[in-house]
Amino acid sequence: MKLEVATIEYDRLFIGGEWVTPEESSWIDVHSPATEEYIGRVPDGRKQDIDRAVSAARAAFDDPRGWSRWAPQERGEVLRRFAHALEARGPETARRVTVQNGMPIWLSEKWETSNPATLLRYFSDLIERQGDELRPGIKGKQTLVTREPVGVVAAIVPWNVPQGITFLKLAPALAAGCTVVLKPAPETVLDAFLVAEAAIEAGLPAGVLNIVPAGGETSGYLVQHPGIDKVSFTGSPEVGRMIGEVCGRLLRPVTLELGGKSAAIVLDDADLENNVEALFSSTMMNNGQVCWLSTRILAPQAQYDKTVRIVSDMVSGLRVGNPLDRETQVGPLVSEKHRDRVEGLIGQGVRQGGRVTVGGRRPEGFDRGWYLEPTVFANVGRKDVLAQKEIFGPVLTVIPYVDEQDAIGIANDSDYGLAGSVWTSDEERGLRVARQVRTGTIGLNGYATDPVAPFGGVKSSGLGRELGPEGLSHYQVLKSIFLNRPNA
Ligand code: NAD
Repeated sequence: MKLEVATIEYDRLFIGGEWVTPEESSWIDVHSPATEEYIGRVPDGRKQDIDRAVSAARAAFDDPRGWSRWAPQERGEVLRRFAHALEARGPETARRVTVQNGMPIWLSEKWETSNPATLLRYFSDLIERQGDELRPGIKGKQTLVTREPVGVVAAIVPWNVPQGITFLKLAPALAAGCTVVLKPAPETVLDAFLVAEAAIEAGLPAGVLNIVPAGGETSGYLVQHPGIDKVSFTGSPEVGRMIGEVCGRLLRPVTLELGGKSAAIVLDDADLENNVEALFSSTMMNNGQVCWLSTRILAPQAQYDKTVRIVSDMVSGLRVGNPLDRETQVGPLVSEKHRDRVEGLIGQGVRQGGRVTVGGRRPEGFDRGWYLEPTVFANVGRKDVLAQKEIFGPVLTVIPYVDEQDAIGIANDSDYGLAGSVWTSDEERGLRVARQVRTGTIGLNGYATDPVAPFGGVKSSGLGRELGPEGLSHYQVLKSIFLNRPNA
């Protein structure tokens, strides 16, 4: 299998509004997860590059006539041009994401091209409407409550939905008046350079956005950098915890969007058979590499076999293939290391007594690429590794429950609390169950996030929220100005 892509190579970094030569000649090489071919490279940012990026962002933020002081409408004008410039690069962005991380092309066209522009427009509108708030005081005098940008933001993103997640951070940060140093994940760096091109075309002032691809050590340096005012991170709980500790010590505001092990609670009145498309998108999108997927499917004991059959039929019908092929529903995993990790967890599941009903192996006919068959497990104990550990691959587990309270108990028996779903024909009943799940987000008969709705987790799934006015507020600090004049 051969990918139809020309090699993409960059030798400079986007810092301070220009393309600059990196401190050292060392590279991040990118390989296709579908063919294992070399597909491109970018500079591997070093500490000195981070220093330059942070000082460019700092200067842009501190400029008394700069971005942070512009009227929201002025920033909104530039951000809408940015949205337009990204849309113009949409097809190329989708293609780059797909060849780097294996996301099926129809999905990268849906998620990775329109979401960034939508978010830029949404947060521009939001900040334009926000304004200051005049509060009559209890002691008889007025206070003006203002919102100011928090400062220079370090945005650190993972590889699974690189553009969408980048703009969960960039859109509110830039709209609020912050400046940003963006650190893409090494697996998905090529699409980040299109963001730089779009920023230049849109006329984003120099230093407002700086992009330095780098590995873990350099990213850690960015988190601790004295020129950073806020850290916004999406990634694994392990790294998130380390970042949280550093930010705690520095008293630096931090948003952490971490992993998940969400439950799909199938109630006994659910019409799962006629809802398999929603079941697929809620449980196995993006080759199982999405943090909010409901990968634990909880089925009523009396309907356990039927539910296992519906889920297994759905999964066995999925087309595995080259992610550039429009017919493909499940592509390869992002890297060899990650494929091996998921495979290892499948092995552990089998050793603990889990029964594979579909998949479980490397698919036949693929001599290259980091593919795994989409897999369903039955007979998994509630405390087994497959029921507790985030797999981040195309692996579902169906677990029986006795009654509604038992289902809620199993759903809540997790270190995580990011998402989930309830499947029922009775909305009121679904809502009653949804309210009892300890989670940041949950869907009825499906799951889809929306820009207006706060997104984020509880427990080990993270701290803070993205999206909605609540997401914007994480890039702002409040200031109360006591006007010393009587209430009107
Ligand atoms: P990861 O934590 O290994 O990497 C995420 C980012 O952090 C990358 O850019 C990486 O280079 C950087 N990084 C690595 N070490 C670092 C360090 N010491 N200091 C600072 N930055 C460092 O995670 P991953 O493997 O890229 O992504 C998969 C994980 O991300 C999964 O656990 C998944 O659930 C989670 N995720 C969560 C969300 C969410 O919104 N909650 C979204 C997508 C992915």
